[in-house]
Amino acid sequence: MEFNGILVVSYIIATILFILALGGLSHQETARRGNWYGIVGMAIALAATIWGIVTQAYVELVVALLIGATIGLIAARRVQMTQMPELVAILHSLVGVAAVAVGFANFLDPGRLAHYQGIDLTIHDIETYLGILIGAVTFSGSVIAFGKLSGKITSKPLVLPARHWLNLILLLVVIYYGYQFVVQSPTGTAEIPAGWLPLIIMTALSLLFGIHMVMAIGGADMPVVVSMLNSYSGWAASATGFMLGNDLLIVTGALVGSSGAILSYIMCRAMNRKFLAVIAGGFGTSEGTQLAGTEDQGEVQPIDSDETAALLADAKEVMIIPGYGMAVAQAQHIVHELTQVLRDKKVNVRFGIHPVAGRMPGHMNVLLAEAKVPYDIVFEMDEVNEDFPEVDVSIVIGANDIVNPSALEEPEGPIGGMPVLECWKGKTTIVLKRSMATGYAGVQNPLFFKENTRMLFGDAKDSLEAVFKAL
Ligand code: NDP
Repeated sequence: MEFNGILVVSYIIATILFILALGGLSHQETARRGNWYGIVGMAIALAATIWGIVTQAYVELVVALLIGATIGLIAARRVQMTQMPELVAILHSLVGVAAVAVGFANFLDPGRLAHYQGIDLTIHDIETYLGILIGAVTFSGSVIAFGKLSGKITSKPLVLPARHWLNLILLLVVIYYGYQFVVQSPTGTAEIPAGWLPLIIMTALSLLFGIHMVMAIGGADMPVVVSMLNSYSGWAASATGFMLGNDLLIVTGALVGSSGAILSYIMCRAMNRKFLAVIAGGFGTSEGTQLAGTEDQGEVQPIDSDETAALLADAKEVMIIPGYGMAVAQAQHIVHELTQVLRDKKVNVRFGIHPVAGRMPGHMNVLLAEAKVPYDIVFEMDEVNEDFPEVDVSIVIGANDIVNPSALEEPEGPIGGMPVLECWKGKTTIVLKRSMATGYAGVQNPLFFKENTRMLFGDAKDSLEAVFKAL
């Protein structure tokens, strides 16, 4: 009894720490502290669960913990900063698998029918059914997201004919089998549980739904999927909490689920997409949309590092627009050094950050913070987009889709309707990239062909080092 009290108190402390962690993570200045709150909270939660709830099979538990921790450590050490989004996606898939495994373990538990009867059994079965459903969708959806983010699966949308009808039919079939499961389950015995067929059919359908949902999303809409799967993984954890009767897991899952949902909503607003359409899956790609190819749009005007340095030295207002290529080139440190030199020359340097720049929410902010770029010169898109007419030089570092004017000019295109950083309204834009290749959405960028745009070809880090030397 006394120990139970310690368990409850530990769980409450862990919950408070998780809430503080989320609060901390909402600002760059407090993000580090927020992480620590999360780490301490998780340590307390794990310790309390191991000592307070587990009563047997300690050896198996310790072995599993050691194996899991070793894999996690190796993966986290090996992963490059550019692979972070993929790592996050694949970790979400593990939450999904865990929910499915716990669901089946619950179903196969010989004590289940003795423990729960009547309405209690029905509620328990619904929890199990929903837990497996959410877990399976999270698992297969996250695996596909991993494939898309790592380039193993094409980012082009797979648009099946009548896909909304297909989803609706899947939903109805899953509801029907849910009913079947709840009806059949009480007729089983401790040795031979009943209702396994509806459960397995639903699991297979949920896996298919997860695959279909993420495969149907293409172009530049993946960021919303990443945050949405983050949210799903929270609900999967919460469902696991219900199945295991673990309050902390329910609360933690709900925190992750709801914060992921809020983030998805913010991303949708930033990209001008409809939230409900996202939840239904297969959004942002009007049927028949063609991904624009690499058709010729005229001549581009190259520039070298000396000329770039001269332009920057003469400028009063400089806007730096980082994108995924800055992460690939690991150019954030040289960007910081360059910023310092320019600021010493009394040039007003600002950073304009697009909400979906890079491959995960906050990707650019993390890189710039790592390079110790002062927070007060890093601005969100909305804060600086009006100011471009006064900007002398914009430097686009490995960004493409987020500075693509066709997002505004071609509303029906794959990135149509997405707000972008309107750097072409400034005096000169210098784009750093290696080739004329397209960005993630696979669309050609008319910015490169504009009269006031210059292309500085090469790896962003090498190019910036040359500019730095010339300065
Ligand atoms: P993009 O993917 O549009 O463009 C990146 C550009 O960087 C490429 O054109 C590439 O051109 C260039 N590049 C790559 N490596 C280097 C290098 N070493 N040196 C210089 N340039 C390099 O990135 P953006 O940040 O502009 O846009 C993000 C895109 O990713 C959006 O479409 C967004 O929707 C999507 N996305 C975002 C997610 C998020 O959560 N933020 C998640 C999933 C997708 P080249 O090969 O010629 O060098």
